[in-house]
Amino acid sequence: MKRLIGILLPTLLTLFISCSKIPLQTEILKWKDGKSACVTLTYDDGSDNQFDLAIPIMDELGFPGTFFINTNIIGGTKNFPTFVGRPIMDILNESKSQPTDSANVLERTSMIRYLCEIQNAPELKDVDMSRIGSSLERGRYEAVFKMVDEICNKLAKTNKTFKVVPAEVPEYHFSWDDLKKFAATGHEFADHTISHPYLSALDEANILYETEACKEDLENNLGFDHTLTVEAPFGIHDDRVMQLLYPRYPFLRNRAPDDFFMEILRSDNTLPGKTDNEYIHWQRGPLSDTPYSQMTAWVDTSLKYDVWLVLVFHGIEGIGWEALPAETIRNYFSYIKEKEDQIWVATYRDAYKYIRERINTKTELSKTGSKISVTLDNNLDKKIYNLPLTLKTLVSGNWAKVQLKQGDIITELKPQTENGESFVIYDAMPGDEPVILTKQ
Ligand SMILES: [Zn+2]
Repeated sequence: MKRLIGILLPTLLTLFISCSKIPLQTEILKWKDGKSACVTLTYDDGSDNQFDLAIPIMDELGFPGTFFINTNIIGGTKNFPTFVGRPIMDILNESKSQPTDSANVLERTSMIRYLCEIQNAPELKDVDMSRIGSSLERGRYEAVFKMVDEICNKLAKTNKTFKVVPAEVPEYHFSWDDLKKFAATGHEFADHTISHPYLSALDEANILYETEACKEDLENNLGFDHTLTVEAPFGIHDDRVMQLLYPRYPFLRNRAPDDFFMEILRSDNTLPGKTDNEYIHWQRGPLSDTPYSQMTAWVDTSLKYDVWLVLVFHGIEGIGWEALPAETIRNYFSYIKEKEDQIWVATYRDAYKYIRERINTKTELSKTGSKISVTLDNNLDKKIYNLPLTLKTLVSGNWAKVQLKQGDIITELKPQTENGESFVIYDAMPGDEPVILTKQ
């Protein structure tokens, strides 16, 4: 008998659920407002024309962007680039008798980066930290040990006393007050370190200083919502660096390793297509020689496969790396604007919030008379994940108007009809308060 119940009960339950699904169906839509794709406009390095030219174009179109900034170029910043570690001369003196090896290499490369890029030591003008960093990333240790030995030898021979000194204050073009105004129109500012080092060439203490001291200035000046997203400079994928950043930032643009993503990195020319993954995270970076037709094709392909298209811009109108003309930016954004009924343009933070909330939120539905109650909840940190989700709930065909109530929010919805089904589409916040839909 027990066995029979064991077989029958799940079957009956499935039958009951599938029957009850017909009048009582609700789903969280893939993208906000039921759109077909999401485009995120991101900018790296905070070069002048991103603020002077791109932001006004975006504000005109009502598009929010994500700006990965180096905080040392923003007037009013508290934290300056430095070297975190033992006195530099202790490290240099040790290098005279102890060759570079895996135990000391990162302390030495961190010191070299400080002397080379922050102090601009003339002895190191030919040192390329990106080359050292990418060699470490690729495991070419012997080559780096040799390079570092040569550099330490050169520094020791100068008989100079190297030490950490207060950083030079750069000439500021923008202040935190400017950024506050930009943030007020919906733009996200995000962590791109204090001074743009190749993080693979730094030890843990210096990686954490560069990222977390940047984050501290972002938080003090713009607030918590601007501390959630980070991009390690040079678009690196170094796992040692990524593992340090994952637990400290919910959203990392370098990598999106969540298992619901098919991830196509900027360096990967795979095209989005049909996939078993729930979402496609497609990163593209238009450069000065990227054909405009290719840029618009990225948008079209994203619409075809419900993609999250993450665009990475650098220079604008002659200022910054691989600068695009402001006119190209204007035309391109206008092209996206024309498709706004299908495309959600969101900051990196908001798009990621929406996706994680949707994946993690469970909905429950009950119906009594002319009232439908929808509860939605997840175990995510509500301080971070605070975006409303867009839901679609079926209602009876004779519901001409629907009142929505969630907590103190009361709105009126007009049901839509498609393929003989009536439904309402609405935003709701996951949490304790159920959504009550009542026939009017
Ligand atoms: Zn950068």
